[in-house]
Amino acid sequence: MHVLIVEDTPEVVEIIEVALKLRWSECEVTSVGRGGLVPGVIASTRPDLIILDLGLPDVDGMDLLEQIRRMSEVPVIILTSRGHEAARVRGLEAGADDYMVKPFSPIEMLARVQAVLRRASRSGGGAAGIITRDSLVVDVAQRSVTVDGRFVLLSRLEWEVFSYLAINAGKVVKHNDLKQRGWGSTTVENTVVKMCIRRIRGKLGETGGDPGVILTHRGLGYSFIG
Ligand code: CA
Repeated sequence: MHVLIVEDTPEVVEIIEVALKLRWSECEVTSVGRGGLVPGVIASTRPDLIILDLGLPDVDGMDLLEQIRRMSEVPVIILTSRGHEAARVRGLEAGADDYMVKPFSPIEMLARVQAVLRRASRSGGGAAGIITRDSLVVDVAQRSVTVDGRFVLLSRLEWEVFSYLAINAGKVVKHNDLKQRGWGSTTVENTVVKMCIRRIRGKLGETGGDPGVILTHRGLGYSFIG
């Protein structure tokens, strides 16, 4: 497990780091004190979890959170001394997974980390979120699909559908579940789903991937080969 701590106060970094390593001896920790460095560090270290202080010297933590969300689905726990309700709600709306108000106890922090990671692994994100078939790599946390290291550029909708199939590899995903996932509604026609699957297969083929990685189950749905 790799945790990225974004915090400019060394004492707070130390408390978090010590607690994490006591609880998970194999836990790797990277810390940065300036928000401007965060996108680069995410790209190079691919953390499983980010603990983000909102009060940073160089950027607004909330803006940084929005920036992180545009590039990754990595779980984020916000850390702040701004304990009021408005900031908490804004943070959660901006895509944070949980929220801690300073000062916090290491025990509370560990419980929140554990809960967030458990949720993330259930939804396919986090450490377990990389699915591979031959040269195809679906990285759920980074929202990326590559074939032999070449990016397959999927639309948001195609990504929602394809990643959901990949997370459920080997299982038949019903039409309605895909509709709910991609379109947020089951009233969408089956042909719309079919067109979306066709586009994904086309894009996989164009990059040298195997379009047959998605199987059609007539009258039922689709599956990602298990
Ligand atoms: Ca701070």
